[in-house]
Amino acid sequence: MAFKQFDRVPNYYAGEIIQQIKNFRQEEGKRSLAPTRLTIGQLEVLVPRHFGFCFGVERAIHMAFSALERHPDRDIHLVNEIIHNPLVNDDLRTRGIRFLYDSDGQRQVPEKSLSGDDVVLIPAFGTTLEIEASLHRSDVDTSSVSFRENYDTTCPFVSKVWDRGEELGREGFTIIIHGKFGHEETQATHSHTEQHTRTLVVRDAEEASRAADYIMGRTSQDAFVAEFGGKWSQGFDPATDLDRVAVVNQTTMLAEETRQVAGILREAMRDRFGEDHIDEHFADTNDTLCYATNWNQNATKALLDAEPDVAVIVGGYNSSNTAHLVEICETVMPSFLISSAEELLSPDQIRHFDSEAKTTTVTDAWRPQLPTRLAVTSGASCPDVLMNSVVEKIASFYGYDQGDIMAGLSSLSLHEPTADVV
Ligand code: SF4
Repeated sequence: MAFKQFDRVPNYYAGEIIQQIKNFRQEEGKRSLAPTRLTIGQLEVLVPRHFGFCFGVERAIHMAFSALERHPDRDIHLVNEIIHNPLVNDDLRTRGIRFLYDSDGQRQVPEKSLSGDDVVLIPAFGTTLEIEASLHRSDVDTSSVSFRENYDTTCPFVSKVWDRGEELGREGFTIIIHGKFGHEETQATHSHTEQHTRTLVVRDAEEASRAADYIMGRTSQDAFVAEFGGKWSQGFDPATDLDRVAVVNQTTMLAEETRQVAGILREAMRDRFGEDHIDEHFADTNDTLCYATNWNQNATKALLDAEPDVAVIVGGYNSSNTAHLVEICETVMPSFLISSAEELLSPDQIRHFDSEAKTTTVTDAWRPQLPTRLAVTSGASCPDVLMNSVVEKIASFYGYDQGDIMAGLSSLSLHEPTADVV
């Protein structure tokens, strides 16, 4: 898959080490999922085939910087965080872009203080129709072709989900959205889809199983309402709106889990209506999975085959796709999610995000002794420069300097065997 290059993405988001690794993979093992091996003395750094900025993120950043360049004299606003990475959002803030909503969804800039002369950018996750209506009340015309082309950074893979939801809604299916209810993208998908049909949000396979139990008549409506009430579209009636269902997803969920959720609900419909009628009651929507989510998750799984001792994952703490990379790594090794090299407090201490406690925590003695194999990756919204600094700092903790890293870069290799093809 070849994508357009976005030339307004700042060069300072790149990093020399990571760029050399990417260049190497353009030459060698381009179609292999085997990770790249960077050997720095007795430290083996494994980098997955796919990581970092995806198409949608690069496009959104390119559009934001293009708007800054084109409109130095106009007030520029973003509906909310353009992507889930603090470095990028702070960069845009320092360049004067104001955010209409904070990360908790609280309005920061009143409707009446916006005007039609202002530039407003919609983030890569898209936004809700309610927020678009609010922009219209401020005379910001979000429906023009010019607005869509220049200021609406909604990733095309997200709008593809909305289109599919609309199509299936028109065919009479209720749309089950596999996503995190509070996440901006799920809110946007929910809002767009409920214009055409009933919707329900389920977070994971466990929730899907409980919804399936209700569909199969194994739990009461009261129990269903107690769990899912409020996570559905206006007017949703569990008694009648779960006869025909289709699953779409928040594009950054675990791809495997989306398939699981779909499988659970398909099975429930088969149980209730019989295999002969399954096509009338369940629509297969595997094609809404985003390519980047698939690639990054598959490459991270391939990384596990190399049996690293520890994994460091770099990304924003509210980044859904990054959280799923951590989940994959955690299945086999100690894994630490950090936002930048600053979280590497000392050779012995790392401050990292604990997704259960939803806060950062400090772990001692996190670093294995040499010789060791370290996996390093980053989420789809993470600039390479952050991962670059992490590699440099960890190498320095082991006593290696730039010269050692450069020597390693001159002899990059694939960690075979991994024969899978992208
Ligand atoms: S993860 Fe996928 S859907 Fe999300 S911005 Fe990137 S390419 Fe688009």
